[in-house]
Amino acid sequence: MTNPEELRQLAGQVAEPVLGQSLDSLRMVGDVTETPSGISVAIELPTHAYPACDQLTSLIQEKLESAVGGRPVEVTWSAKVQGKDTGGRIGLTVHNVIAVGSGKGGVGKSTVATALACGLHSLGSSVGLMDADVYGPSIPHMLGIKGTPEPIRQTTEDGRTLARMAPLEVDGLKLMSMGFFVEEGQSVPWRGPMVHKALTQFLRDTTWGELDYLIIDLPPGTGDVSLTLAQQIGLAGAVIVCTPQQVALLDAIKAVDMYQKVNVPILGFVENMTGDIFGRGGARKVAEELSLPFLGEVPIDAGIREHGDAGKMMDLMKNDNPARTSLTTVCQNVAMEIVRNIADSPAAPTLEIL
Ligand code: ADP
Repeated sequence: MTNPEELRQLAGQVAEPVLGQSLDSLRMVGDVTETPSGISVAIELPTHAYPACDQLTSLIQEKLESAVGGRPVEVTWSAKVQGKDTGGRIGLTVHNVIAVGSGKGGVGKSTVATALACGLHSLGSSVGLMDADVYGPSIPHMLGIKGTPEPIRQTTEDGRTLARMAPLEVDGLKLMSMGFFVEEGQSVPWRGPMVHKALTQFLRDTTWGELDYLIIDLPPGTGDVSLTLAQQIGLAGAVIVCTPQQVALLDAIKAVDMYQKVNVPILGFVENMTGDIFGRGGARKVAEELSLPFLGEVPIDAGIREHGDAGKMMDLMKNDNPARTSLTTVCQNVAMEIVRNIADSPAAPTLEIL
């Protein structure tokens, strides 16, 4: 009879089906224990958005089959999100900061950023969403939330007092937006340096707490807000949202170029509003040409627009509906791209917010 440690080693040899690396190298195998009826293998997933539990169960069962003499093999799951853990110097305890950008406005960048935050949150991760689209903050509207963040005074260990703000929350998803500080429909007449300062404060002075993912909805284009944020934050990567038609794709390519110039990893492209009007497949093709990941396509869907307009994006990602499947796939692909990057470069240096 093979002992639990030998079984653990065998399970560790299984190739994880999404990344193709061994479970051992990804440190995913926990305890292997004998149960009254068989064997139980504990797997620690690198993200709550892991997409291949069923496939992985079969692979582990196949691998251990002969060693357990026909007894049933059960797999149990837990998840611990890994990250670059940037921002520690300014007290930010966020494992992964993900920027969502686009080359031009109106392609559904804020919709995808909100769906990504709500989706990862619904799958069990702790998530924050920061609306850096200071000139057109739409996240409060999409999540149906109004209010002003509460000021908080924190005392540090060495006795200093810090002024902080509590993020607003929707079902536990933490939010910060310029929209909480201006009336809906009012514009923010700020120049670059003021915007830069406000965004730095949003990051540093919000009591985000410990988060697996902080999603940042960037303003469209290759403007200075995107640039300063990209340069200052140790991003896990940027997600580029575009529509399938050529003009939008060219702008998206420019956005990619900008991120690459400031060494921000590109997690990949999302093609939004795929369908009859704009066509289909353009973003996948461009991603292939640029050797970048394609993170999924989101169809034009009246439900997406209706949920966004009604402030019910959280419901869109929680309840069963046609759009949720494609948006959840995007969440899973984004999360797994981050896992891939970490697995490929475990000792990569991290940038910190100044
Ligand atoms: P951006 O942030 O790029 O300016 P938004 O996310 O604000 O774009 O989206 C613009 C409009 O398009 C919104 O009314 C939104 O509800 C709608 N929209 C976004 N994605 C889709 C989609 N896949 N299907 C239908 N409507 C969408």
